[in-house]
Amino acid sequence: MAIGIGVCLSMSIIAQKNQPNILFIMADDHTTQAISAYGGPLTKVFQTPNIDRIGNEGIIFENCLVTNSICTPSRATILTGQYSHHNGVYTLPDPFDRNRNNVAKMLQANGYSTAIIGKWHLKSEPSGFDHYSVLNGQGVYNNPTLKVKGVWEQEGKTFEKARGSRNKGHSTDVIGMQAINWLKARDEDEPFLLMCHFKAPHRNWVPAERFENMFDGITIPEPESLYEDHSERSQWSPHSYNTIRKDLKFLDIGIRKKNDTLQGRDRVEYAYQLYMKRYLACCAGVDENVGKILDYLDKSGLAENTIVVYTGDQGFFLGEHGWFDKRLIYEESLRMPLLIRYPNGITPGQRNKSLVSNVDFAPTFLDVAELKPSKEMDGKSFAPMFKGKTPGNWRKAFYYRYWMQLADHGVPAHYGIRTDKYKLIFFYGKGLGKAGTYDRKIDPFNRESEMITNTTPEWEFYDLSVDPNEMVNKYNDPKYQKTIAKLKKQLLKEKKKVGDTDDQYPEMKEVIDNYWN
Ligand code: CA
Repeated sequence: MAIGIGVCLSMSIIAQKNQPNILFIMADDHTTQAISAYGGPLTKVFQTPNIDRIGNEGIIFENCLVTNSICTPSRATILTGQYSHHNGVYTLPDPFDRNRNNVAKMLQANGYSTAIIGKWHLKSEPSGFDHYSVLNGQGVYNNPTLKVKGVWEQEGKTFEKARGSRNKGHSTDVIGMQAINWLKARDEDEPFLLMCHFKAPHRNWVPAERFENMFDGITIPEPESLYEDHSERSQWSPHSYNTIRKDLKFLDIGIRKKNDTLQGRDRVEYAYQLYMKRYLACCAGVDENVGKILDYLDKSGLAENTIVVYTGDQGFFLGEHGWFDKRLIYEESLRMPLLIRYPNGITPGQRNKSLVSNVDFAPTFLDVAELKPSKEMDGKSFAPMFKGKTPGNWRKAFYYRYWMQLADHGVPAHYGIRTDKYKLIFFYGKGLGKAGTYDRKIDPFNRESEMITNTTPEWEFYDLSVDPNEMVNKYNDPKYQKTIAKLKKQLLKEKKKVGDTDDQYPEMKEVIDNYWN
């Protein structure tokens, strides 16, 4: 492809070490089922042509797994290349220690211009970024307030309390536009790391006006397991707020009051159509803005030497098992989208099934920038896969842990292991004093309901090779006892390998003694 002379000159300065630019685009709660490049039933009614383009011109990872399926911990893992037990961000309320090393700091120290625009959600002031423009906490969908460096310093307040300035428009458009404006104004002599983090499509799903009616008259196809009653799953499961029929509380009060009388199947059916239309319309806005950013890269001659990464901070259930949230180790919530384009370094048209993870992002970015990961990082670079090769010693099993016992969604703390074929889950059910874990009523809608803190430990096991949708818990099936015994050993080995020992929690020893076998 012909490139203009001016671009060639500036690229030769940039690329003395051939360091590529890194454009990391992440949308909050955007899951693989809502990205057409991943296929699935929703593609009949909804497509993401621009996001798909990244994967089709590069590589699509089909098994990118999150270490802890919830916003703040995943974001901390992406920055540090560490599991929650190493970076200190276990749950939603945990602030990120800004003095800690992170991938932006390392790239910045090695000549990169660095910026983050959009959702931050780590409470402390961003560190390692030359420029930041970040939402207040979760942020709002329309006319969002974004905080930049000067604001924080001038007001002399903690970062969390600083106000920032209001921007007119839908948050997805504001964030997309600010990303392009930063690219235009950046120092062209330096390679860049730009993290563009959309707030959409996080709950409560408010699309931009132009997408509001895009699904009028359309019925969104329902997943097969939408009306699952959870009687075959662990005891906590039917009580979880993740369950779609209980979830109307998360929508605005008008919608809730009007429809709170709906019960059973009617309620689920109604909520599913309502949620999905709003969720997908938010995704449409993200896809459109991704298209604008890709167009800018093409026009400015940056496309060839820029690695474009598209992901979500975790997966999300879109009605599967009757759920509409994340947190759990089940596939829809565990799997992150990951599509990467890099014309100078990736053979296009690839699909890769290796078990990669958000813990590998930081080491991978450092690797493509020809830098070494720091010793404290738990992840490994998957850049060798860009040329179609998965290293022989790549992980065969993935360790997962969700710490936020019960809390506002009623999901018990659990850890587990996922291999190419199996999944073993241990719902150990303890808060271990972590922030944001607390007592709750078994049934939040029943005043007489019992208050609980810990939940009874339980196991689940799925054979993904015959049951990819995780419908039948085979933990007690005699046929699988040998496999399960082996997986328990493997689980302990992987847990130890990443240094998650539980040594500091004596109550975990009790749980293991009583429930491991
Ligand atoms: Ca999220």
